[in-house]
Amino acid sequence: MLPPKDLFMNIAPIPAFSDNYIWMLERDGRVAVVDPGDANPVLAVLTERGVTLDTIIITHHHFDHTGGVKTLKAATNCRVVGPDNPKIEGIDEKLVDGDVAHVLGYDFDVLEVPGHTLDHIALHCADESVLFCGDTLFVGGCGRVFEGTFPMMQDSLAKLAALPPETAVYCTHEYTLANLAFARKVEPQNEHLLAHIEACEQMRTEGLATVPSTIGQELRINPFLRWQSPAIIGQLKQEGRHTGDSPPDVFAAVRGWKDEG
Ligand code: ZN
Ligand code: FE
Repeated sequence: MLPPKDLFMNIAPIPAFSDNYIWMLERDGRVAVVDPGDANPVLAVLTERGVTLDTIIITHHHFDHTGGVKTLKAATNCRVVGPDNPKIEGIDEKLVDGDVAHVLGYDFDVLEVPGHTLDHIALHCADESVLFCGDTLFVGGCGRVFEGTFPMMQDSLAKLAALPPETAVYCTHEYTLANLAFARKVEPQNEHLLAHIEACEQMRTEGLATVPSTIGQELRINPFLRWQSPAIIGQLKQEGRHTGDSPPDVFAAVRGWKDEG
């Protein structure tokens, strides 16, 4: 995998639970964190690095993304930005599609990406080619469609797929190897995919995060973005899962297949 081009933002993962990454963006002694499901590992890093928590970014209401908000806000008096959803306690600045969120002097375009949940948003910093996408797009996969519909999720993923290929994709979970194992069932001959499986297995052996990916890389390997792939359509036919060639049809067939496994 090629590293994201021109990546100047200082971003590091704070591991939480079994497979969450709380992404920390640092600038001049101040930090922002994305989806702090647990306050403790964040507080530990703040102390260890001697930095101040400026902003919490929330992508959607699930507890593994919001569980640390109350404690962190009480401890640091930071600001919280996130979806316009009353279910999420402590949001100071509600973000809707088309908004620009200012975080540590960076501008993030807000994209509404419903599907996994109805309130899900993603934040894209075009100047730095960085995307925080929560549980919508994963490396080699996508979030389960809990609250929305398959066509809604496909539409949301299409928004992300349309971002510049060099965009670094920071998702919340280290699900990569399981996702890629499924991707291989869907597209067994995809050489980019096979190479990425090898690279990610090596990274995991070394204890490294396989995140971020890039939009360009996901377009080559991720079966949930490859609606146009004749190989995937062929495989769906072979599996008796083909219901049509349109992007929503292909997406729904692939997502339904994954949900069975
Ligand atoms: Zn979630
Ligand atoms: Fe999650």
